[in-house]
Amino acid sequence: MPRWSDLSDNEMTLLDHVFWSTHISRDALANGAGFSKSRANAVVAGMLDQGLLEATGAQQSTGGRRAETLRLSRSLGVLLGVALGATGLEVGVLAPDLELLAHHSEPADVRDGPALLMARVRTLMRELLAKCKRRPGDVMGIGIGVPGPVDFESGQLVNAPLMPEWDAYSIRDDLRADYAAPVFVDNDVNVMALGELWRMQRGLQNFLVVKVGTGIGCGIVCHGRVYRGANGSAGDVGHICVDPAGPRCHCGNLGCVETMAAGPAIARAATEAARGGQSALLAQMLAERDVLKLQDVAQASRAGDVVANAIVQRSGALIGQMLASVVNFHNPSHVFIGGGIQRIGPLFLAAVRQSVYHRSLALSTRHLEIQYTPLGERAGIIGAGVLAMQETLARRVAA
Ligand SMILES: [Zn+2]
Repeated sequence: MPRWSDLSDNEMTLLDHVFWSTHISRDALANGAGFSKSRANAVVAGMLDQGLLEATGAQQSTGGRRAETLRLSRSLGVLLGVALGATGLEVGVLAPDLELLAHHSEPADVRDGPALLMARVRTLMRELLAKCKRRPGDVMGIGIGVPGPVDFESGQLVNAPLMPEWDAYSIRDDLRADYAAPVFVDNDVNVMALGELWRMQRGLQNFLVVKVGTGIGCGIVCHGRVYRGANGSAGDVGHICVDPAGPRCHCGNLGCVETMAAGPAIARAATEAARGGQSALLAQMLAERDVLKLQDVAQASRAGDVVANAIVQRSGALIGQMLASVVNFHNPSHVFIGGGIQRIGPLFLAAVRQSVYHRSLALSTRHLEIQYTPLGERAGIIGAGVLAMQETLARRVAA
């Protein structure tokens, strides 16, 4: 593993560029970093020798000539990524170019508290590293996404409504016993936004990622960076009111979009419809499974169940209503929707689009695209890898 402090500024600049544009050609790298070709070639040669970069698979260029591309060297070490959701956790070992070398996901209840969940995370980290034949000393950085607002400097959760026990808990101290590598913690949807930013090689500068699962949150990318706000709670859109006469939310207010349109609300509406005899398919699913979840409603909707479709469309319309205000305020080029809701498919997306386009100002929606997150279920774990690598490199630059 390199001592980052031994690297020159030029080497750090190129390392950062190669990380954000993996499999980049030497010419594109020189261009992107603002180096002359000869200067870039000289620095790259040294970095290849030191094992910081490696040349990979010759790529067929437009002229038919084979051009090599560059990526961060596998000999640098590995990254650990953790995506902690309200109802599940995923741990992954990633190469420096973010190839997922090993990963594991399983259901988990964040309300079980940090001691239990972090013990499980540490066990999985150990097992997955062993599977990749890597040691704790090979870990360069650790990135963790958690389902609540995070004070990014301290890496601690702040007033997380879904996980009160985590408030005073230091995930960093917990992992320090096993790893010397730096640990970075951020809100789960910020981490997803970072993953998408990396996937697009920073090609989009202003976009939103909205996660709809147990709760609703929004990651904000502004001028090519994740915007966290003054206290780390930027994008906490779940408690925006969409119906002043709506039901009471766990936050105490009435008609929050989260309490009316997120996963639990969808499951609740489906359960009521099943019990009320409105849908034979939902009733059959409820009888088989005892409880209906978001994925069951998704399955019923894809099967064409009219009642499930109406529930999905109502949720999409309410989330679109909230998003219309956010879109007018931020003027993003893209909104990417992720989380468990993605399993529902095009019907939900169509309802969100219709509601946003209907309510937003024409200028904010003229070029607006609303899609599911292209990284899909991988957005959290890839984003955690991006967080780990980006912040590890940034620490050296700041040092
Ligand atoms: Zn609320």
